[in-house]
Amino acid sequence: MQSLTILGSTGSIGKATLSVIQQHTDKFFVHALVAKDNVSVMTEQCITLNPKYACLIYEEAARILKKNLITAGKHGIEVLSGVVNACELAAIDDVDMVMSAIVGIAGLKPTFAALRAGKKILLANKETLVVCGKFFMKEAKRYSACILPIDSEHNAIFQNLPVICQRNVGHMSLSECGISRIVLTASGGIFFKEPQEKLTKITPEQACIHPNWSMGHKISVDSATMMNKGLEYIEARHLFNAKPNEIEILLHPQSIVHAMVYYTDGNVLAHLAPPDMRIPIAYAMAYPDRIGLKILSNINIHCLNKLHFEQLDNRRYPCLQLAIEADNCSQAATIVLNAANEIAVEAFLNRMISFTTIPDIIRCALEEINLKDPDDVEDILYIDRKAREKAISMCNICK
Ligand code: NDP
Repeated sequence: MQSLTILGSTGSIGKATLSVIQQHTDKFFVHALVAKDNVSVMTEQCITLNPKYACLIYEEAARILKKNLITAGKHGIEVLSGVVNACELAAIDDVDMVMSAIVGIAGLKPTFAALRAGKKILLANKETLVVCGKFFMKEAKRYSACILPIDSEHNAIFQNLPVICQRNVGHMSLSECGISRIVLTASGGIFFKEPQEKLTKITPEQACIHPNWSMGHKISVDSATMMNKGLEYIEARHLFNAKPNEIEILLHPQSIVHAMVYYTDGNVLAHLAPPDMRIPIAYAMAYPDRIGLKILSNINIHCLNKLHFEQLDNRRYPCLQLAIEADNCSQAATIVLNAANEIAVEAFLNRMISFTTIPDIIRCALEEINLKDPDDVEDILYIDRKAREKAISMCNICK
């Protein structure tokens, strides 16, 4: 039996992880659940899964959770609050693996705590690699932590790597593994066919619908702007130690082929799977083995008479372009990019700014904040704070 801490258990990835665990109660059990303040979902999860610990970051939310659990007769679950406790639950001795699925930079500290405790980390929180990929991968090696990507594209690439490369992921060059390039596919976002002039009128409700995946609000908007693909590009650079010219992004609106790996000997390995996040999660949980999974429907190859791929028109996707430019520039720039994006997406979801203002806010923050690259987590958080202040003031001007 392997035990898990789930960081972000009440979110879309957290729930998908619990669904996998519930299909394999003979192999996995939940030791600790962590979320921000969603008392109702956390109460339900605690009652169903009976973890040893439950932690909500907000103290008041944790207090209500405790009361709910006493009412439900669940006296054995210890309820905690705050970031320090969340980090402890990520590093606790009794835990074998940690699902890192807190959204945004808030996931950084608990993920580092898991890393420094040498855990097997199921990494969904891409923001960690975006803001400090090089440092993160170095620390992973130092503390012998095993990093398994959850993002479907990165998980697909990982599955297509030679075993030696999987075992040393991020620490071997792709050419050493006989690989010439990796291809990330992109659905193109929900507005991929929408005329540019109509994009200013897009509402948060429209942006949060994804044609193929069901996800949290922030990543749904990131998918619509294609910032998600930009973040994934940076994630892939660090995770696979890939050079810029070794990564290609290809439009594939059907989201059936998640990634391709081109080998120098002429072989191309593509990964196909239905768009269900439980598939990469189950793969990572069971790695290096595989476990069965009941999913809604598998790919029916006989119905796939055509797979569609297209080159990207970069002019349509300013957020993707900004992410690639920030990555070319510096680690500090990717921190600014991520922070300004988080603020701009929140402002858009709160109807303060339009959909097309999101890249303007990010561009402005990137132009105005020039700080030296970080040496540690505190430096990262300092740059993040400065970028947020700038982005918030820009959003207020654009209101
Ligand atoms: P959701 O918005 O659905 O869930 C976010 C989770 O993070 C919730 O449990 C939330 O708790 C928790 N959370 C938010 N803020 C904090 C905080 N300050 N401290 C602690 N916990 C916090 O997001 P997703 O599940 O969609 O995404 C999670 C991560 O996984 C993101 O980084 C995303 O990019 C990545 N990812 C997601 C995919 C998907 O298909 N959804 C695919 C690939 C990667 P609460 O409910 O209490 O607010």
